[in-house]
Amino acid sequence: MKIGFIGLGNMGGPMAVNLAAAGHEVAGFDLAAPCPAGVAAAESAAEAARGAEVVITMLPNGAILRAVAAEIHPAMVPGAVHLDCSTVDVESARDVAEAARAAGLDAVDAPVSGGVGGATAGTLTFMAGGSEAGFARVAPLFEVMGQKAVHCGASGDGQAAKICNNMILGITMIGTCEAFALADKLGLDRQSLFDVVSTSSGSSWSVNAYCPAPGVGPTSPADSGYRPGFAADLMLKDLRLSQQAAEAVDADTPLGHAATELYARFVEEEDGSGMDFSAMLPRFEKRGRDG
Ligand code: NAD
Repeated sequence: MKIGFIGLGNMGGPMAVNLAAAGHEVAGFDLAAPCPAGVAAAESAAEAARGAEVVITMLPNGAILRAVAAEIHPAMVPGAVHLDCSTVDVESARDVAEAARAAGLDAVDAPVSGGVGGATAGTLTFMAGGSEAGFARVAPLFEVMGQKAVHCGASGDGQAAKICNNMILGITMIGTCEAFALADKLGLDRQSLFDVVSTSSGSSWSVNAYCPAPGVGPTSPADSGYRPGFAADLMLKDLRLSQQAAEAVDADTPLGHAATELYARFVEEEDGSGMDFSAMLPRFEKRGRDG
């Protein structure tokens, strides 16, 4: 397939490499990141998009996605698919899909989970929104870049699924870290807490697969000084998107709100920027009830 790929950063770079390695003809463009081996460097986003059957965007936020979409849609061949894999607000995803349809194109929003490791290994999970036909056309690309793709519904539903999932993740990680810090103060051994919780009703992915306590459970960023993994900064981005969406539809999300405030403090006022999101545990360890 002839593919345009715009946004060749930490995630987009390895995703484009995997598509090229699978035999697709990939033309890439990024304002700053270098074009990886196997991907043909285009002079502009419009040039990368010209003549492609699918144009993939992997960009930092909704405002940049809107600007890039306005540039590439007129350059794309009628009937081509704009596949956006960035994590952006639901409204931008829906507006960009609408703009694509108005330009005679198809659109699929498919944010990912799995991080840079998953992008490199080709094991991402895609949460997709868009038409059945659009989903079917990009499904072979999901198979190259990932191990699972869920068609969640219409345009924007992929983004909705992603921010709901990550709101749960942020809340459960904070709860897990609180519990381990409380256990420390109660004199309860961390391994014992893990052995109980990971096989009991308190279990979750945060405990079982990504335990924030070093040396406990499967290997996780806690075992390498909380080097990400999934950076606290990116968790904050996703939590903010969840609260923006909750406000737009008048949804009551008190724990999502509290998690957003905690990660904002951690990233912007404390030492959380650049750390894995599970570094909430050492943060709680240092504190008493008065903060
Ligand atoms: P990144 O900052 O490494 O990459 C984004 C790239 O977009 C950069 O290289 C930047 O130069 C480029 N860019 C910005 N504006 C551009 C423009 N107008 N034209 C062309 N290129 C432009 O970010 P990333 O970690 O690759 O994340 C990309 C997206 O994936 C984000 O939406 C992020 O939230 C999401 N995501 C990231 C992770 C992760 O672990 N890094 C996990 C899941 C989802």
